[in-house]
Amino acid sequence: MTRIAITGAAGRMGKTLIEAVALNEQAELTAAIERPDSSLIGSDSGELAGLGKNGVAVVADINDVINDFDVLIDFTAPVATVSNAQACQAASKKMVIGTTGFNDQQQQDFDSFIQGIAVCKATNFSTGVNLCFKLSALAAEILGGEDYDIEIYEAHHRHKVDAPSGTALSLGEAVAKPLGRNLKDCAIYGREGQTGARDRNTIGFATARGGDVVGDHTVSFMADGERVEITHKASSRMSFARGAVRAAVWLQSQQAGLYDMQDVLGLK
Ligand code: NAD
Repeated sequence: MTRIAITGAAGRMGKTLIEAVALNEQAELTAAIERPDSSLIGSDSGELAGLGKNGVAVVADINDVINDFDVLIDFTAPVATVSNAQACQAASKKMVIGTTGFNDQQQQDFDSFIQGIAVCKATNFSTGVNLCFKLSALAAEILGGEDYDIEIYEAHHRHKVDAPSGTALSLGEAVAKPLGRNLKDCAIYGREGQTGARDRNTIGFATARGGDVVGDHTVSFMADGERVEITHKASSRMSFARGAVRAAVWLQSQQAGLYDMQDVLGLK
């Protein structure tokens, strides 16, 4: 049995993760954490997730429960995740990370704090999206970058704070790699005004925000005479939460290192 702690327990993903742990027979929830200024500190995490009491109270400090879990699942914000990585490294705890939107400095700090521990980090934990990463790379390899213009569209709910989504960026990396391109050099994150004709070597991104959209992504390969589109539409956060709990159970028997959901699914 994998003992799991969930941080950001009152968040959209946190509550869904509490439910997903309850549904997984190989996992048990043994700790729940929220930001110190949350009004929900002290409340029962099962009730928070609408499941009825589970006896695991929400705490404000990861160090108060650091000996109570094997794997921390963290879908919060970059600043919180970097600090949690420091705490987990000091206590040799494993981590599953779903947080997106790290800037370069946060990514650098995170990379140093996870040295020596086992971490599974993915911009998307759904099986369907991980299949789309593979399909998009295959499409780029077969279609090539000479005749096909590549654009990535994504849509999310109005509360999402980072753009483009981490998943859209991962799709960009998946298609850039087989084309021998570096996404940082070829990504176009918005167009306005007199942009000039499209540079074939670019990969364009378009973002929409609104309503309660859980997450839509399309990679489009456009040539003269045809268009290939690879689309994923999430209709429930449970697809991400189930994958993250599966990753936590898998991670328990792994050595120190940085893994992603492709490792968990055996897609590499
Ligand atoms: P949310 O705002 O609903 O939840 C975030 C929660 O984290 C909040 O409850 C907040 O209070 C809490 N939090 C912030 N700082 C904290 C701290 N220091 N300690 C403890 N808790 C803290 O957001 P969400 O929609 O649940 O998304 C959270 C993150 O997960 C985002 O970065 C989002 O992009 C990402 N996400 C990833 C995937 C994936 O599959 N990888 C899927 C969905 C969302």
